[in-house]
Amino acid sequence: EPTIITIDGPAGAGKSTLAKEIAKKFGYLHLDSGALYRTIGYACVQRGVDLSDEKKVLNVARSISVELQNGKVLLNGEDVTRQIRTPEAGKWASQVAQYPEVREVVVQILRKLARGKKVVVDGRDAGSYIFPEAQLKIYLTASSQERAKRRLEELKRKGFNLSYEEVLKEIVERDRKDENRPFAPLKVPEGAVIIDSTGKTLEEVLQEVEKLIKN
Ligand code: C5P
Repeated sequence: EPTIITIDGPAGAGKSTLAKEIAKKFGYLHLDSGALYRTIGYACVQRGVDLSDEKKVLNVARSISVELQNGKVLLNGEDVTRQIRTPEAGKWASQVAQYPEVREVVVQILRKLARGKKVVVDGRDAGSYIFPEAQLKIYLTASSQERAKRRLEELKRKGFNLSYEEVLKEIVERDRKDENRPFAPLKVPEGAVIIDSTGKTLEEVLQEVEKLIKN
């Protein structure tokens, strides 16, 4: 059994859903790296910090405390789980994630949390940069149309009213940004198993992963 499992891939591929299921089924701690970027972005906006001001964003990232507690995200002890899941917070996250020093803060937090534990980490650079030593690396993807459809359903469940076109545009834009940033861009990590979840249920994907874990 691997000690570290990483799941990378584009927005809306189902990484965190899969990570949660793996955590539950096989007793891993789930580390959602996107949640950390979202929380930093949210903390900046709350404090009136301009997200294009790299220095100020970095100061916020260094001064706040973020905890991941079984599915909950705490910012300086306050539960912000719901607040960081808005479409805006996704945009803020990808803005602050452009800054190498902010990424370094997040990477240090994640490596510390993983010490001595069995973890499943989802993100964009989990297998390529944060945990290159991971024994199982998964690159989870799906067509952009399918990812937009899933994201739209998720947002609707949460009470957001967006159109399919808006969501698709946002997803494509976010991927472009993530793939083209100079530092730790989204890519298929070396040694990763690529799983395309287009047209597959979560259960089917989970079965494929289960085989990989037990191998
Ligand atoms: O996965 P999630 O939608 O929560 O991520 C929000 C944004 O945070 C991503 O679009 C990406 O820009 C950034 N991110 C990142 N590296 C990670 C995780 C998230 O750059 N490991």
